[in-house]
Amino acid sequence: MDLFEYQGKQYFARFGIPTSAGGVADTVDEAVDQAERAGYPVVVKAQVKVGGRGKAGGVKLATDAAEVRTHAGNILGLDIKGHVVKRLWVEHASDIAREYYASFTLDRAAKKHLGMLSAKGGVDIEEVAATDPDAIAMIHIDPTEGLDAAGARRWVDAAGLDEEARDQAAALLVDLYRCYVEGDCDLAEINPLILTTEGRVHALDAKVTLDDNASFRHPEWEEYAATDTEDVREARARERGLNYIGLEGSVGIIANGAGLAMSTLDVVNQVGGSAANFLDIGGGASADVMAAALEVINSDPSVRAIFVNIFGGITRVDEVAKGVVEALGRVDIASPIVLRLDGTNAEAGREILAPHLSDRLVAEPTMVAAARRAVELAGGPR
Ligand code: GDP
Ligand code: MN
Repeated sequence: MDLFEYQGKQYFARFGIPTSAGGVADTVDEAVDQAERAGYPVVVKAQVKVGGRGKAGGVKLATDAAEVRTHAGNILGLDIKGHVVKRLWVEHASDIAREYYASFTLDRAAKKHLGMLSAKGGVDIEEVAATDPDAIAMIHIDPTEGLDAAGARRWVDAAGLDEEARDQAAALLVDLYRCYVEGDCDLAEINPLILTTEGRVHALDAKVTLDDNASFRHPEWEEYAATDTEDVREARARERGLNYIGLEGSVGIIANGAGLAMSTLDVVNQVGGSAANFLDIGGGASADVMAAALEVINSDPSVRAIFVNIFGGITRVDEVAKGVVEALGRVDIASPIVLRLDGTNAEAGREILAPHLSDRLVAEPTMVAAARRAVELAGGPR
């Protein structure tokens, strides 16, 4: 799971890594409040989980409230590489003397941690890596040995950081390594790591990817999971405990089992349609689960038709049918629904549904027929 910059900085702070004072804002007014608190000048920064925000106009300096208003207004709602900005981080601006780059990640082939450090950090680090790879000092760290102060100092010397930054940088890198290991990160990256004109070294940006396999020992990651998605449909589905992935098409999909859900997407595609989502309601398809699934799909404005594809195994189709009927009584569905119910107790299921069928609730005997019907009801093939 990737963290937003502000979350990454909060994570860094737990390991003593210095950052600038600041706060989050979801509106222009909140941005001004945060700026007053941090003290001018400030930087207004788009919070999206994608790099290159600076070059995309998502990072702006402001010297007073009026400038904060202008920049916050422009950045909120900005589309950065397909990520729409909904939240800002406003922090006290730093006077930058030098921009460095530092990161830790795992080198799977070497079975070691890989540290990368460069005196040429900043927004053009990719170009540095491509054209001047020697400007990046790499070290492999044996996980059983770790990184100590002396090792960090040798690394900083090798990278050629400015003399006055070296002690602070070495100490910071030891903390960053601890954050990466004890904090169970797949990636901990600071770009730029800066030396200020007052001679202070601190993190101006934070890119942290948490290792999801370690979430069992980090109950505190819950709060990050809650903000993990920028897709409101996915957030709604997560609240309801559903296994949902938002897509771009117009046919809403509900299926039981991940394999069947994927096949359903394929079949919808094959007959010329496009799925609005992946949604696996799992083994038990109770009325509660079905209602929750229909609610989430119903809230997606691009859905024109809903395809419910259930193959009864342990899940009995008559139970699913009851669930569908009950859910329809609870949720007011905007789009027509096409049902394909097969497998255990399919006949009993169809009998339950029969009195409820209409031009808004259609049953089809096969997956392909149901997919065709759903695509037709969604406005026809592409
Ligand atoms: P990114 O473009 O998404 O990596 O966003 P960053 O947080 O790294 O910011 C991009 C660039 O904006 C940095 O490399 C800095 O040059 C500049 N910047 C960010 N914060 C400050 C600040 O506090 N003061 C100054 N002078 N420049 C800043
Ligand atoms: Mn950056």
